[in-house]
Amino acid sequence: MSLRRRTKIVATLGPASSSPECIEALILAGMDVARLNFSHGCADDHRLRARLVREIAHKNHRFVALMGDLQGPKIRIAQFEGDAVTLHVGDTFTLSTQHPANAGNNAIVGIDYPALIQACAPGDELLLDDGRIILKVDRVDTHTVLTTVTVGGLLSNNKGINRRGGGIAAASLTDKDREDILLAAELEMDYVAVSFPRYASDIDEARVLVRGAGSPAWIIAKIERAEAVADDEALNGLIRASDGVMVARGDLGVEIGDARLVGIQKRIIQHARTLNKLVITATQMMESMIASPMPTRAEVSDVANAVLDYTDAVMLSAESASGQYPVEAVQAMARVCVGAEQEPTSTTSGHRLGETFTRCDETIALASMYAANHFPGIKAIISLTESGHTPLIMSRIRSGVPIYCYTRHIGTQRRAALFRGVYTVPFDAAQLDPAEVSRAAIDILRTQSLLQTGDWIILTKGDFYSNSGGTNGMKILQVT
Ligand code: PGA
Ligand code: MN
Repeated sequence: MSLRRRTKIVATLGPASSSPECIEALILAGMDVARLNFSHGCADDHRLRARLVREIAHKNHRFVALMGDLQGPKIRIAQFEGDAVTLHVGDTFTLSTQHPANAGNNAIVGIDYPALIQACAPGDELLLDDGRIILKVDRVDTHTVLTTVTVGGLLSNNKGINRRGGGIAAASLTDKDREDILLAAELEMDYVAVSFPRYASDIDEARVLVRGAGSPAWIIAKIERAEAVADDEALNGLIRASDGVMVARGDLGVEIGDARLVGIQKRIIQHARTLNKLVITATQMMESMIASPMPTRAEVSDVANAVLDYTDAVMLSAESASGQYPVEAVQAMARVCVGAEQEPTSTTSGHRLGETFTRCDETIALASMYAANHFPGIKAIISLTESGHTPLIMSRIRSGVPIYCYTRHIGTQRRAALFRGVYTVPFDAAQLDPAEVSRAAIDILRTQSLLQTGDWIILTKGDFYSNSGGTNGMKILQVT
């Protein structure tokens, strides 16, 4: 029981992981959140994956959240005649808004974003495919950017382009994103991730669109522009506007350079947690597992360090979407998370001793965690909740005590799959005699052998079970 994994796993579904067998294996291996990446595939691909995740999770009594990841204003090259070319250092290579979209070659390729041309100047560095290919800008004409290859390699269709230092301005939500928000609502997604937001207002706008489409999805801001981490004010503004953030290391690393990336990653995780928000650490965590059944020591270290920094979740992208070992990648992540969580720093907390709380439910949540971490008999925290807000705040505090999210709402049941150390238990307190609620809540865990006679638990609830934000009570009970 004490070895139950607390850090959650987000796995991106793609061509390598869309069969019912693979989705079932991913869920059993520990996928907590399935990410559908709207940058790839068509609406029907996503419909099918979403349906399979729902059906297979239900069959296996698992709670798996769905996250729709909007493409955003990512600038991409068009396509090559033979799907890929090899570029060599010193080659000249042209990007053109007028070249036919599917007829690139090793001298020229199309792009669909004229503003890139205006934003570029001689001397700039353009990074393609998350920085695997680097082009130096020599000349900018009306429709073309002429460059020299400074880092070469294989370049395939539709790879992204960034400029070192950021600053290619593009509105955060594209027409495609607006359509995909409707799709996310149709598929009842639990989270919607917004790509390349610059300001809090980009997140506000996304939220209005998501709610307008009838979706209660929580909004994740992907931190992947240099501007978003330029100072604490910009970063905290984005964090506050969202329900959680993703450290989107692929694009962020390209924009700010790999040298600053790790320090900024740690800062993002810490700020998100202090501001009571979720945080996902993403991209290239198990990159070599695209083609290998075992991670490298460096990858193991990367995942473990994010766990030690108390990220809510670690994420797989190509490893699970298009790699050869999607299930092994989830298994490896799960194993490394559990191992890192054994370190005492994962379970002890500073408890925000210098802070002032702003809400009653926040105060109860944090008082519960203080009690749980300091009374060794406590084996479980049971939070009777509507929106999941109380277990969310509880899980901002480091602890080894499991937090059980007891809720009747299917949306909350799935959403909590992303919260570190939080596990869903379907429960409708309003259907029970008030005098029976505590015993019924404890019995569920006892029948699963998660509690035994003599253990202590903390139970939090509101006076009225139907009020969201209404948690105002905390009890300590002994299991009899
Ligand atoms: P992406 O976002 O995979 O959609 O590019 C994550 C990242 O940039 O790291
Ligand atoms: Mn990105």
